[in-house]
Amino acid sequence: MSDSSFLAWPFFEGRHRSLAGDLERWAGEHIAHEHGPDVDAECRALVRSLGAAGWLRHAVGGASWGAAEVIDTRAICLLRETLARHSGLADFAFAMQGLGSGAISLQGTPEQKERYLGRVASGEAIAAFALSEPEAGSDVAALQCQAHVEGDQAVLNGEKTWISNGGIADFYVVFARTGEAPGSRGISAFIVDADTPGFEIAERIDVIAPHPLARLRFNACRVPLSQRIGAAGEGFKVAMRTLDVFRTSVAAAALGFARRALDEALQRATTRRMFNQTLADFQLTQARLAQMATTIDSAALLVYRAAWQRDQGQNVTKEAAMAKMAATEGAQQVIDSAVQIFGGQGVVSGNVVERLYREIRSLRIYEGATEVQQLIIARELIKAFPATQGDASAAQESQP
Ligand SMILES: Cc1cc2nc3c(=O)[nH]c(=O)nc-3n(C[C@H](O)[C@H](O)[C@H](O)COP(=O)(O)OP(=O)(O)OC[C@H]3O[C@@H](n4cnc5c(N)ncnc54)[C@H](O)[C@@H]3O)c2cc1C
Repeated sequence: MSDSSFLAWPFFEGRHRSLAGDLERWAGEHIAHEHGPDVDAECRALVRSLGAAGWLRHAVGGASWGAAEVIDTRAICLLRETLARHSGLADFAFAMQGLGSGAISLQGTPEQKERYLGRVASGEAIAAFALSEPEAGSDVAALQCQAHVEGDQAVLNGEKTWISNGGIADFYVVFARTGEAPGSRGISAFIVDADTPGFEIAERIDVIAPHPLARLRFNACRVPLSQRIGAAGEGFKVAMRTLDVFRTSVAAAALGFARRALDEALQRATTRRMFNQTLADFQLTQARLAQMATTIDSAALLVYRAAWQRDQGQNVTKEAAMAKMAATEGAQQVIDSAVQIFGGQGVVSGNVVERLYREIRSLRIYEGATEVQQLIIARELIKAFPATQGDASAAQESQP
């Protein structure tokens, strides 16, 4: 088991420490890095078991479903870190229930919360977050999917791509252009049930760390206006508020992958014999291990600072971006070091470090690629610097 001494940090309260301990015990008994080939079935089963065990309650906000009244970012981060240490797919299943329903938790009407959040928390309904499009990834404000209003309905036309849980989700939170204003101010968010006529899965996408992923198509897909989340034209803000919570949790998942890689590397380095000693006896290996551990602790400090700050009700745009950039980039290096320590075993399919090597890669791209995080951090720095009259508006707004 990983070093859990960080739980003594002042960022946490007693309930977080108990949560982390309880989940660690549960995860040790119920999940493993290895999963069967049918990723849809594995994912559905993981959502059900995470729901039945009560963990998914933490992915949504609202006392009615047994959760904290407002989303507890530290709890979400601890859950993702712990699940990621045990299984990338279990972390994915948990994270997507949160990201897919986050807009409803944060800004849904009481009716929308009632209809969806309880089922998300119990694992009966699978959620998805549909923002990216083929021509609007990093530059998400360029999205083209349209929703025009006819009477008391919105009619959606267009495409979304890279949508996690695409193909198995029961509902999708879809961001579409409603045209109240140009750019990011003319977008609204709608909940689209998977069985709505005019909605279809256009293509399933295979990726290096398999999980359900799809391109979606909307063809005269009608949803009642009561399915809109937040005010008309406010969808971009809804998306960014959701990402402010979940971006920090992506960093926490990267941290979990990195911690697992360090555990595996320590185990291997201290037992692998060569040149009449163990690999860990060499100072070159010790330098590598020291760097890995320091990268992990730096990332952990940034992750839990951002999570704590958000739970205090403070703005975390810059801190979440720093955490995501440092934790995902750092985890990539830590995992690469672990593969190196394993030698040939490190690249054998199915080895834990080989899986981690594939799992980590997309975290540096989604919910805002590293370059996007750099722009966000710089924009916030320039905005806050009193002596400057610099125009930071040229920096991109914020991407998924
Ligand atoms: C596995 C996976 C799961 C995903 N799940 C979801 C999901 O559930 N819902 C959803 O809506 N989206 C999802 N996405 C989409 C994801 O958010 C986008 O892939 C991401 O925003 C990047 O967009 P893009 O792929 O179009 O790359 P592009 O926008 O074409 O960017 C390509 C690269 O350009 C670089 N770059 C970007 N901006 C700049 C800049 N300003 N300066 C210099 N370089 C820059 C970055 O390195 C980036 O990787 C997922 C993606 C993946 C890979």
